[in-house]
Amino acid sequence: MNLNIREFSSSSDDFRAELESLLAWDSVSDATVQKTVADIVEQVRLKGDDAVIEFTNRFDRRHVVASSELEISREALARAKSRVSAELVASLEAAAKRVHDYHERQKQPSWQYQEDNGTVLGQKVTPLDRVGVYVPGGKAAYPSSVLMNVMPAKVAGVGEIIMVVPTPDGLVNDIVLAAAYIAGVDRVFTIGGAQAVAALAYGTATIPKVDKIVGPGNIYVATAKKMVFGVVGIDMIAGPSEILVVCDGKTDPDWIAMDLFSQAEHDEDAQSILISPDLAFLNKVKVSMEQLIETQSRKDIIKASLEGRGAFIHVKDMDEAMDIANIVAAEHLELSIDEPEKWVEKIRHAGAIFMGRHTPEALGDYCAGPNHVLPTSGTARFSSPLGVYDFQKRSSLIYCSPEGASELAKIASPLARGESLEAHAMSAEYRILKDA
Ligand code: NAD
Repeated sequence: MNLNIREFSSSSDDFRAELESLLAWDSVSDATVQKTVADIVEQVRLKGDDAVIEFTNRFDRRHVVASSELEISREALARAKSRVSAELVASLEAAAKRVHDYHERQKQPSWQYQEDNGTVLGQKVTPLDRVGVYVPGGKAAYPSSVLMNVMPAKVAGVGEIIMVVPTPDGLVNDIVLAAAYIAGVDRVFTIGGAQAVAALAYGTATIPKVDKIVGPGNIYVATAKKMVFGVVGIDMIAGPSEILVVCDGKTDPDWIAMDLFSQAEHDEDAQSILISPDLAFLNKVKVSMEQLIETQSRKDIIKASLEGRGAFIHVKDMDEAMDIANIVAAEHLELSIDEPEKWVEKIRHAGAIFMGRHTPEALGDYCAGPNHVLPTSGTARFSSPLGVYDFQKRSSLIYCSPEGASELAKIASPLARGESLEAHAMSAEYRILKDA
Protein backbone atom coordinates (compact mmCIF):
# COMPACT_ATOMS: atom_id res chain seq x y z
CA MET A 1 0.00 0.00 0.00
CA ASN A 2 1.33 3.42 -0.93
CA LEU A 3 1.84 5.67 2.12
CA ASN A 4 1.93 9.42 1.76
CA ILE A 5 3.87 10.44 4.86
CA ARG A 6 5.27 13.91 5.44
CA GLU A 7 9.07 14.11 5.02
CA PHE A 8 11.29 17.05 5.80
CA SER A 9 14.82 17.95 6.68
CA SER A 10 16.33 20.02 9.48
CA SER A 11 18.44 21.79 6.85
CA SER A 12 15.45 23.38 5.14
CA ASP A 13 14.78 27.09 5.74
CA ASP A 14 11.27 26.62 7.08
CA PHE A 15 12.17 23.67 9.34
CA ARG A 16 10.92 25.28 12.60
CA ALA A 17 7.60 26.21 10.96
CA GLU A 18 7.25 22.65 9.58
CA LEU A 19 7.96 21.18 12.99
CA GLU A 20 5.50 23.50 14.73
CA SER A 21 2.72 22.65 12.31
CA LEU A 22 3.47 18.94 12.75
CA LEU A 23 3.18 19.19 16.53
CA ALA A 24 0.15 21.52 16.66
CA TRP A 25 -2.70 19.99 18.60
CA ASP A 26 -5.51 21.50 20.65
CA SER A 27 -7.36 18.73 22.43
CA VAL A 28 -10.10 20.38 24.46
CA SER A 29 -11.40 23.39 22.56
CA ASP A 30 -14.46 22.20 20.65
CA ALA A 31 -17.29 24.57 21.65
CA THR A 32 -20.07 22.05 20.93
CA VAL A 33 -18.41 19.42 23.08
CA GLN A 34 -17.87 21.99 25.85
CA LYS A 35 -21.57 22.82 25.86
CA THR A 36 -22.68 19.19 25.81
CA VAL A 37 -20.34 18.28 28.63
CA ALA A 38 -21.27 21.34 30.74
CA ASP A 39 -24.92 20.30 30.48
CA ILE A 40 -24.21 16.68 31.42
CA VAL A 41 -22.07 17.70 34.41
CA GLU A 42 -24.74 20.12 35.66
CA GLN A 43 -27.55 17.58 35.28
CA VAL A 44 -25.60 14.95 37.21
CA ARG A 45 -24.76 17.48 39.93
CA LEU A 46 -28.44 18.44 40.30
CA LYS A 47 -30.25 15.14 39.70
CA GLY A 48 -27.67 12.53 40.73
CA ASP A 49 -28.47 8.93 39.85
CA ASP A 50 -31.47 9.85 37.67
CA ALA A 51 -29.24 11.85 35.32
CA VAL A 52 -26.51 9.19 35.35
CA ILE A 53 -29.07 6.54 34.32
CA GLU A 54 -30.57 8.80 31.64
CA PHE A 55 -27.21 9.61 30.00
CA THR A 56 -25.94 6.04 30.33
CA ASN A 57 -29.03 4.73 28.57
CA ARG A 58 -28.75 7.39 25.87
CA PHE A 59 -25.01 7.27 25.09
CA ASP A 60 -24.26 3.61 25.83
CA ARG A 61 -27.57 2.24 24.51
CA ARG A 62 -28.49 0.62 27.85
CA HIS A 63 -31.85 -0.09 29.48
CA VAL A 64 -31.00 0.60 33.10
CA VAL A 65 -33.98 1.19 35.40
CA ALA A 66 -32.46 1.14 38.90
CA SER A 67 -29.06 2.57 39.85
CA SER A 68 -28.16 -0.72 41.57
CA GLU A 69 -27.86 -2.24 38.07
CA LEU A 70 -24.84 -0.02 37.46
CA GLU A 71 -22.56 -1.80 39.94
CA ILE A 72 -20.56 -4.98 39.31
CA SER A 73 -19.85 -6.92 42.51
CA ARG A 74 -16.43 -8.39 43.46
CA GLU A 75 -18.02 -11.85 43.00
CA ALA A 76 -18.99 -10.93 39.42
CA LEU A 77 -15.42 -9.71 38.82
CA ALA A 78 -14.12 -13.08 40.04
CA ARG A 79 -16.55 -14.87 37.70
CA ALA A 80 -15.35 -12.72 34.79
CA LYS A 81 -11.76 -13.67 35.61
CA SER A 82 -12.70 -17.37 35.53
CA ARG A 83 -13.99 -16.90 31.96
CA VAL A 84 -10.65 -15.47 30.77
CA SER A 85 -8.04 -17.91 29.43
CA ALA A 86 -5.37 -19.11 31.85
CA GLU A 87 -2.64 -17.69 29.62
CA LEU A 88 -4.15 -14.21 29.63
CA VAL A 89 -4.77 -14.29 33.40
CA ALA A 90 -1.13 -15.28 33.90
CA SER A 91 -0.03 -12.32 31.75
CA LEU A 92 -2.30 -9.93 33.65
CA GLU A 93 -0.94 -11.20 36.97
CA ALA A 94 2.68 -10.99 35.81
CA ALA A 95 2.15 -7.46 34.47
CA ALA A 96 0.35 -6.40 37.68
CA LYS A 97 3.26 -7.67 39.78
CA ARG A 98 5.89 -5.92 37.67
CA VAL A 99 3.97 -2.63 37.67
CA HIS A 100 3.44 -2.98 41.43
CA ASP A 101 7.13 -3.66 42.11
CA TYR A 102 8.28 -0.72 39.99
CA HIS A 103 5.91 1.67 41.73
CA GLU A 104 6.95 0.43 45.20
CA ARG A 105 10.19 2.29 44.55
CA GLN A 106 8.32 5.57 44.03
CA LYS A 107 6.87 5.69 47.53
CA GLN A 108 7.78 8.91 49.31
CA PRO A 109 8.12 8.65 53.08
CA SER A 110 7.25 11.37 55.57
CA TRP A 111 10.31 13.21 56.88
CA GLN A 112 11.30 15.63 59.61
CA TYR A 113 14.33 17.28 61.16
CA GLN A 114 15.05 18.93 64.49
CA GLU A 115 16.76 22.27 65.00
CA ASP A 116 19.19 22.88 67.89
CA ASN A 117 16.52 24.68 69.95
CA GLY A 118 14.14 21.70 69.74
CA THR A 119 11.88 22.98 66.94
CA VAL A 120 10.85 20.19 64.58
CA LEU A 121 9.95 20.74 60.91
CA GLY A 122 8.86 18.16 58.39
CA GLN A 123 6.39 16.80 55.92
CA LYS A 124 3.71 14.17 56.53
CA VAL A 125 2.78 12.09 53.49
CA THR A 126 -0.78 10.73 53.39
CA PRO A 127 -2.49 8.61 50.74
CA LEU A 128 -5.76 9.90 49.27
CA ASP A 129 -8.90 8.52 50.94
CA ARG A 130 -10.84 7.65 47.78
CA VAL A 131 -9.91 7.72 44.11
CA GLY A 132 -11.94 7.26 40.91
CA VAL A 133 -10.28 5.43 38.01
CA TYR A 134 -11.76 6.05 34.57
CA VAL A 135 -11.22 3.11 32.24
CA PRO A 136 -12.22 3.89 28.65
CA GLY A 137 -14.61 1.50 26.99
CA GLY A 138 -16.46 3.29 24.22
CA LYS A 139 -14.75 1.77 21.17
CA ALA A 140 -12.17 -0.61 22.64
CA ALA A 141 -11.28 -2.30 25.93
CA TYR A 142 -8.14 -1.40 27.89
CA PRO A 143 -7.25 -3.91 30.61
CA SER A 144 -3.69 -2.53 30.67
CA SER A 145 -5.13 0.88 31.63
CA VAL A 146 -6.78 -0.75 34.64
CA LEU A 147 -3.43 -2.03 35.90
CA MET A 148 -1.51 1.16 35.14
CA ASN A 149 -4.01 3.41 36.94
CA VAL A 150 -4.85 1.17 39.86
CA MET A 151 -1.46 -0.28 40.88
CA PRO A 152 0.17 3.05 41.86
CA ALA A 153 -2.95 3.92 43.87
CA LYS A 154 -2.72 0.58 45.68
CA VAL A 155 0.99 1.08 46.37
CA ALA A 156 0.28 4.59 47.71
CA GLY A 157 -2.25 3.07 50.13
CA VAL A 158 -5.40 4.77 48.80
CA GLY A 159 -8.32 3.86 51.06
CA GLU A 160 -10.89 3.00 48.40
CA ILE A 161 -10.60 2.69 44.62
CA ILE A 162 -13.75 3.18 42.54
CA MET A 163 -13.51 2.19 38.88
CA VAL A 164 -15.89 3.31 36.15
CA VAL A 165 -16.02 1.78 32.68
CA PRO A 166 -18.73 2.25 30.05
CA THR A 167 -20.34 -0.88 28.66
CA PRO A 168 -21.91 0.10 25.32
CA ASP A 169 -25.00 -2.03 24.60
CA GLY A 170 -24.50 -3.60 28.02
CA LEU A 171 -21.55 -5.66 26.81
CA VAL A 172 -19.02 -6.14 29.60
CA ASN A 173 -15.42 -7.00 28.80
CA ASP A 174 -14.26 -9.94 30.90
CA ILE A 175 -10.56 -9.08 30.54
CA VAL A 176 -11.12 -5.56 31.90
CA LEU A 177 -13.10 -6.95 34.83
CA ALA A 178 -10.45 -9.64 35.46
CA ALA A 179 -7.81 -6.88 35.53
CA ALA A 180 -9.94 -4.95 38.04
CA TYR A 181 -10.16 -8.06 40.22
CA ILE A 182 -6.42 -8.74 40.03
CA ALA A 183 -5.51 -5.10 40.69
CA GLY A 184 -7.76 -5.02 43.77
CA VAL A 185 -10.34 -2.41 42.74
CA ASP A 186 -12.94 -1.97 45.52
CA ARG A 187 -16.06 -1.08 43.49
CA VAL A 188 -16.83 -1.06 39.76
CA PHE A 189 -19.62 0.89 38.03
CA THR A 190 -20.56 0.45 34.37
CA ILE A 191 -20.80 4.10 33.47
CA GLY A 192 -18.66 6.25 31.20
CA GLY A 193 -18.25 9.62 29.52
CA ALA A 194 -18.87 13.00 31.16
CA GLN A 195 -21.67 11.54 33.32
CA ALA A 196 -19.23 9.13 34.99
CA VAL A 197 -16.70 11.90 35.63
CA ALA A 198 -19.43 14.15 37.10
CA ALA A 199 -20.82 11.32 39.27
CA LEU A 200 -17.36 10.67 40.73
CA ALA A 201 -16.73 14.39 41.26
CA TYR A 202 -20.01 15.26 42.99
CA GLY A 203 -21.16 11.86 44.23
CA THR A 204 -24.68 10.47 43.87
CA ALA A 205 -26.78 8.24 46.11
CA THR A 206 -25.11 5.25 44.42
CA ILE A 207 -21.71 6.47 43.23
CA PRO A 208 -19.37 7.63 45.99
CA LYS A 209 -17.76 11.06 45.68
CA VAL A 210 -14.00 10.70 45.21
CA ASP A 211 -11.06 12.98 45.96
CA LYS A 212 -9.28 12.55 42.62
CA ILE A 213 -10.13 11.17 39.17
CA VAL A 214 -7.43 9.52 37.06
CA GLY A 215 -7.41 7.72 33.74
CA PRO A 216 -7.61 8.49 30.04
CA GLY A 217 -10.71 8.85 27.88
CA ASN A 218 -12.15 10.49 24.79
CA ILE A 219 -12.86 14.20 24.35
CA TYR A 220 -16.05 14.05 26.48
CA VAL A 221 -14.10 12.51 29.35
CA ALA A 222 -11.15 14.90 28.99
CA THR A 223 -13.44 17.95 28.83
CA ALA A 224 -15.42 16.79 31.88
CA LYS A 225 -12.22 16.18 33.86
CA LYS A 226 -11.06 19.70 33.07
CA MET A 227 -14.46 21.05 34.16
CA VAL A 228 -14.58 19.30 37.56
CA PHE A 229 -10.96 20.08 38.40
CA GLY A 230 -11.05 22.00 41.65
CA VAL A 231 -14.02 20.05 42.99
CA VAL A 232 -11.73 17.03 42.75
CA GLY A 233 -8.14 16.53 41.71
CA ILE A 234 -7.31 15.09 38.29
CA ASP A 235 -4.18 13.43 36.95
CA MET A 236 -3.80 15.13 33.58
CA ILE A 237 -5.59 15.92 30.33
CA ALA A 238 -4.36 13.28 27.89
CA GLY A 239 -4.18 14.07 24.19
CA PRO A 240 -3.66 11.52 21.42
CA SER A 241 -0.80 9.09 21.91
CA GLU A 242 2.61 9.83 20.32
CA ILE A 243 5.89 8.12 19.60
CA LEU A 244 9.15 9.66 18.47
CA VAL A 245 11.75 7.16 17.29
CA VAL A 246 15.35 8.31 16.94
CA CYS A 247 17.34 5.76 14.95
CA ASP A 248 20.95 5.82 13.79
CA GLY A 249 20.08 3.63 10.80
CA LYS A 250 21.42 0.39 12.27
CA THR A 251 18.15 -1.17 13.49
CA ASP A 252 16.15 -3.57 11.29
CA PRO A 253 13.79 -1.27 9.32
CA ASP A 254 10.93 -3.74 9.89
CA TRP A 255 11.32 -3.33 13.65
CA ILE A 256 11.13 0.46 13.37
CA ALA A 257 8.17 0.25 10.99
CA MET A 258 6.26 -1.87 13.51
CA ASP A 259 7.20 0.42 16.42
CA LEU A 260 5.73 3.35 14.46
CA PHE A 261 2.62 1.29 13.61
CA SER A 262 2.14 0.34 17.26
CA GLN A 263 1.38 3.97 17.99
CA ALA A 264 -0.48 4.73 14.78
CA GLU A 265 -2.93 1.86 15.34
CA HIS A 266 -4.35 3.56 18.49
CA ASP A 267 -6.38 6.06 16.50
CA GLU A 268 -6.34 8.41 13.53
CA ASP A 269 -5.04 11.29 15.68
CA ALA A 270 -2.09 9.34 17.08
CA GLN A 271 1.33 10.59 16.02
CA SER A 272 4.39 8.58 14.90
CA ILE A 273 7.60 10.40 13.99
CA LEU A 274 10.94 8.93 12.90
CA ILE A 275 14.16 10.96 13.06
CA SER A 276 17.43 9.75 11.55
CA PRO A 277 20.65 11.18 10.15
CA ASP A 278 20.62 8.36 7.57
CA LEU A 279 18.47 9.31 4.57
CA ALA A 280 18.77 5.89 2.93
CA PHE A 281 17.54 4.30 6.17
CA LEU A 282 14.47 6.56 6.26
CA ASN A 283 13.62 5.32 2.79
CA LYS A 284 14.13 1.69 3.82
CA VAL A 285 11.71 2.13 6.73
CA LYS A 286 9.16 3.64 4.36
CA VAL A 287 9.46 0.61 2.07
CA SER A 288 9.03 -1.72 5.08
CA MET A 289 5.97 0.20 6.19
CA GLU A 290 4.38 0.01 2.75
CA GLN A 291 4.85 -3.77 2.77
CA LEU A 292 3.99 -4.50 6.41
CA ILE A 293 0.85 -2.37 6.53
CA GLU A 294 -0.87 -4.96 4.38
CA THR A 295 -0.49 -7.47 7.25
CA GLN A 296 -2.19 -5.21 9.78
CA SER A 297 -5.81 -5.67 10.87
CA ARG A 298 -6.02 -1.97 11.75
CA LYS A 299 -4.39 -0.81 8.51
CA ASP A 300 -7.01 1.87 7.79
CA ILE A 301 -6.43 3.57 11.15
CA ILE A 302 -2.64 3.20 10.75
CA LYS A 303 -2.73 4.78 7.28
CA ALA A 304 -4.95 7.67 8.41
CA SER A 305 -2.74 8.35 11.42
CA LEU A 306 0.56 8.18 9.50
CA GLU A 307 -0.68 10.29 6.61
CA GLY A 308 -2.43 12.80 8.89
CA ARG A 309 0.13 13.33 11.66
CA GLY A 310 3.16 11.12 10.97
CA ALA A 311 6.54 12.31 9.70
CA PHE A 312 10.08 11.35 8.71
CA ILE A 313 12.66 13.93 9.71
CA HIS A 314 16.16 13.85 8.28
CA VAL A 315 18.78 15.44 10.54
CA LYS A 316 22.45 16.36 10.24
CA ASP A 317 23.67 14.22 13.13
CA MET A 318 22.69 12.61 16.41
CA ASP A 319 23.21 15.79 18.43
CA GLU A 320 20.64 17.55 16.30
CA ALA A 321 18.28 14.57 16.69
CA MET A 322 18.46 14.99 20.48
CA ASP A 323 17.79 18.74 20.21
CA ILE A 324 14.65 18.06 18.16
CA ALA A 325 13.56 15.32 20.58
CA ASN A 326 13.69 17.92 23.36
CA ILE A 327 11.51 20.30 21.34
CA VAL A 328 8.97 17.55 20.59
CA ALA A 329 8.92 16.42 24.27
CA ALA A 330 7.24 13.22 23.14
CA GLU A 331 5.06 10.99 25.26
CA HIS A 332 7.16 7.99 24.14
CA LEU A 333 10.74 8.44 22.94
CA GLU A 334 12.58 5.45 21.48
CA LEU A 335 16.36 5.75 21.22
CA SER A 336 17.07 2.95 18.77
CA ILE A 337 20.79 3.70 18.67
CA ASP A 338 24.22 2.57 19.87
CA GLU A 339 25.13 3.63 23.41
CA PRO A 340 21.67 4.92 24.39
CA GLU A 341 22.91 5.37 27.96
CA LYS A 342 25.32 8.03 26.67
CA TRP A 343 22.75 9.90 24.57
CA VAL A 344 20.00 9.81 27.19
CA GLU A 345 22.03 12.38 29.12
CA LYS A 346 21.03 14.92 26.45
CA ILE A 347 17.29 14.23 26.74
CA ARG A 348 15.48 16.67 29.00
CA HIS A 349 11.85 16.31 27.93
CA ALA A 350 10.03 13.01 27.31
CA GLY A 351 7.28 11.04 29.07
CA ALA A 352 9.11 7.70 28.84
CA ILE A 353 12.48 6.97 27.25
CA PHE A 354 12.94 3.54 25.67
CA MET A 355 16.64 2.86 25.41
CA GLY A 356 18.23 0.63 22.79
CA ARG A 357 17.12 -1.47 19.84
CA HIS A 358 15.51 -4.17 22.00
CA THR A 359 13.22 -1.83 23.92
CA PRO A 360 10.07 -1.20 21.89
CA GLU A 361 7.38 0.98 23.41
CA ALA A 362 4.96 -1.96 23.35
CA LEU A 363 6.82 -3.63 26.23
CA GLY A 364 6.42 -0.50 28.32
CA ASP A 365 2.76 -0.23 27.38
CA TYR A 366 1.99 -3.54 29.03
CA CYS A 367 4.43 -4.98 31.45
CA ALA A 368 7.96 -3.56 31.78
CA GLY A 369 6.88 -1.85 35.01
CA PRO A 370 6.88 1.95 34.49
CA ASN A 371 3.51 3.57 34.02
CA HIS A 372 2.02 3.91 30.54
CA VAL A 373 -0.07 6.94 31.52
CA LEU A 374 2.29 9.64 30.28
CA PRO A 375 2.23 13.35 29.46
CA THR A 376 1.24 13.96 25.82
CA SER A 377 1.26 16.93 23.40
CA GLY A 378 4.55 18.37 24.66
CA THR A 379 3.38 18.50 28.29
CA ALA A 380 6.40 16.38 29.24
CA ARG A 381 8.10 19.79 29.45
CA PHE A 382 6.36 20.29 32.80
CA SER A 383 4.76 17.04 33.90
CA SER A 384 5.57 13.42 34.67
CA PRO A 385 4.20 9.91 34.23
CA LEU A 386 1.35 8.84 36.50
CA GLY A 387 2.90 7.54 39.69
CA VAL A 388 2.51 6.81 43.38
CA TYR A 389 3.09 10.52 44.07
CA ASP A 390 -0.20 11.30 42.26
CA PHE A 391 -2.04 9.37 44.97
CA GLN A 392 -0.21 10.86 47.92
CA LYS A 393 -0.46 14.33 49.35
CA ARG A 394 1.75 16.15 51.75
CA SER A 395 1.04 18.13 54.92
CA SER A 396 3.65 20.42 56.41
CA LEU A 397 4.61 19.67 60.04
CA ILE A 398 5.73 22.39 62.45
CA TYR A 399 6.46 21.90 66.16
CA CYS A 400 7.97 24.85 68.01
CA SER A 401 9.80 24.47 71.29
CA PRO A 402 9.37 27.50 73.65
CA GLU A 403 12.85 28.71 72.69
CA GLY A 404 12.20 28.10 68.98
CA ALA A 405 8.88 29.96 69.11
CA SER A 406 10.51 32.90 70.83
CA GLU A 407 13.20 33.14 68.13
CA LEU A 408 10.70 32.83 65.28
CA ALA A 409 8.35 35.40 66.84
CA LYS A 410 11.11 38.01 66.71
CA ILE A 411 11.34 37.43 62.94
CA ALA A 412 7.58 37.17 62.36
CA SER A 413 6.48 40.20 64.36
CA PRO A 414 8.08 42.92 62.17
CA LEU A 415 6.92 41.09 59.04
CA ALA A 416 3.34 40.98 60.33
CA ARG A 417 3.39 44.65 61.29
CA GLY A 418 4.84 45.42 57.85
CA GLU A 419 1.68 43.84 56.43
CA SER A 420 -0.50 45.74 58.96
CA LEU A 421 -1.71 42.47 60.44
CA GLU A 422 -1.67 43.28 64.14
CA ALA A 423 -3.27 40.07 65.40
CA HIS A 424 -0.58 38.08 63.62
CA ALA A 425 2.10 40.21 65.25
CA MET A 426 0.59 39.92 68.74
CA SER A 427 0.00 36.18 68.37
CA ALA A 428 3.70 35.78 67.66
CA GLU A 429 4.82 38.28 70.34
CA TYR A 430 2.93 36.43 73.11
CA ARG A 431 5.43 33.59 72.47
CA ILE A 432 8.54 35.72 73.06
CA LEU A 433 10.15 34.47 76.28
CA LYS A 434 10.42 37.21 78.90
CA ASP A 435 14.08 36.60 79.67
CA ALA A 436 15.12 35.96 76.08
P1 NAD B 1 -14.46 6.43 26.42
O1 NAD B 1 -14.79 5.51 27.56
O2 NAD B 1 -13.42 7.46 26.67
O3 NAD B 1 -15.80 7.20 25.97
C1 NAD B 1 -17.03 6.57 25.82
C2 NAD B 1 -18.11 7.47 26.38
O4 NAD B 1 -18.13 8.71 25.66
C3 NAD B 1 -19.49 6.92 26.26
O5 NAD B 1 -19.79 6.12 27.40
C4 NAD B 1 -20.34 8.19 26.24
O6 NAD B 1 -20.77 8.49 27.53
C5 NAD B 1 -19.40 9.28 25.78
N1 NAD B 1 -19.86 9.78 24.48
C6 NAD B 1 -19.69 9.23 23.28
N2 NAD B 1 -20.31 9.96 22.34
C7 NAD B 1 -20.90 10.99 22.97
C8 NAD B 1 -21.70 12.10 22.55
N3 NAD B 1 -22.00 12.30 21.27
N4 NAD B 1 -22.11 12.97 23.49
C9 NAD B 1 -21.81 12.81 24.80
N5 NAD B 1 -21.07 11.76 25.25
C10 NAD B 1 -20.63 10.88 24.35
O7 NAD B 1 -14.09 5.46 25.21
P2 NAD B 1 -13.57 5.75 23.72
O8 NAD B 1 -14.53 6.61 23.00
O9 NAD B 1 -13.26 4.42 23.17
O10 NAD B 1 -12.25 6.59 23.88
C11 NAD B 1 -11.13 6.12 24.56
C12 NAD B 1 -10.00 7.12 24.41
O11 NAD B 1 -9.02 6.87 25.40
C13 NAD B 1 -9.30 7.04 23.06
O12 NAD B 1 -9.08 8.36 22.61
C14 NAD B 1 -7.98 6.35 23.39
O13 NAD B 1 -6.93 6.70 22.53
C15 NAD B 1 -7.74 6.85 24.78
N6 NAD B 1 -6.84 5.99 25.56
C16 NAD B 1 -5.69 6.55 26.04
C17 NAD B 1 -4.82 5.79 26.81
C18 NAD B 1 -3.57 6.43 27.38
O14 NAD B 1 -2.88 5.83 28.17
N7 NAD B 1 -3.25 7.67 27.01
C19 NAD B 1 -5.10 4.45 27.08
C20 NAD B 1 -6.29 3.92 26.59
C21 NAD B 1 -7.16 4.71 25.84
